[in-house]
Amino acid sequence: MLEINKSRLCHPENYTRGRREPITYLVIHYVGALGSAEENAQYYGSRGGIGASAHYFVDHSPGASVWQSVPEGHTAWHCGRSDGRYKHPKCRNANSIGIEMCCHKDKSGAWYFDPETVDRTVELALDIMERYHIPIQNVLRHYDVTGKVCPAPFVEDARAWLRFKQRLEAGPMTEETVKAIVDEETAKRAATERKAPASAWAAESWAKAKEKGVFDGTAPQAPLTREQAACVLDRLGLLN
Ligand SMILES: [Zn+2]
Repeated sequence: MLEINKSRLCHPENYTRGRREPITYLVIHYVGALGSAEENAQYYGSRGGIGASAHYFVDHSPGASVWQSVPEGHTAWHCGRSDGRYKHPKCRNANSIGIEMCCHKDKSGAWYFDPETVDRTVELALDIMERYHIPIQNVLRHYDVTGKVCPAPFVEDARAWLRFKQRLEAGPMTEETVKAIVDEETAKRAATERKAPASAWAAESWAKAKEKGVFDGTAPQAPLTREQAACVLDRLGLLN
């Protein structure tokens, strides 16, 4: 279960109350600065007039690394364009949830994400996608909406973005999913075994065993349990 800190919500002057359209898109950003998720939540929560906002800030800190800023039912200002020149035909602030990923700079000056930040964002994104039935093709980078280089690590390395999206497509493998797969495989194998005829090398003996009443003639390739083996030996008179 993802822990979300909601103790420092966004200042109401930095977003629009309510929504004009239902939520159908999820937009991923990077903060583009060195602050933690908590520091970002503090910053957007402490003053109005910033002219920008997001629903969530995610970083790598252990424990509560996800900070909610704008509640989902309100319109955050995260992917708008004042000139209206959008790259994407439909995704707008009004119909999307915006997640800001915290980041670091390496020695060459390139921005990167901690693997834990990516993990937590995957977890949060899956939760949002499930709650609003957002399909994978509606999960976008800010770049896909307006052309802004954001999130830089996922724009400069398009493969990293694809890997991120693959994780959203696969979904989490729950214990139930694993059990369902194993059960299905077991049932399939059992069905195949029941239908398969006796192998050529065993056909003659199998026919004799059936004739003598050792077996009933069905499922020649099914495995034999210990209790079945005991009955076979008994029918052959070997246990008297
Ligand atoms: Zn952005």
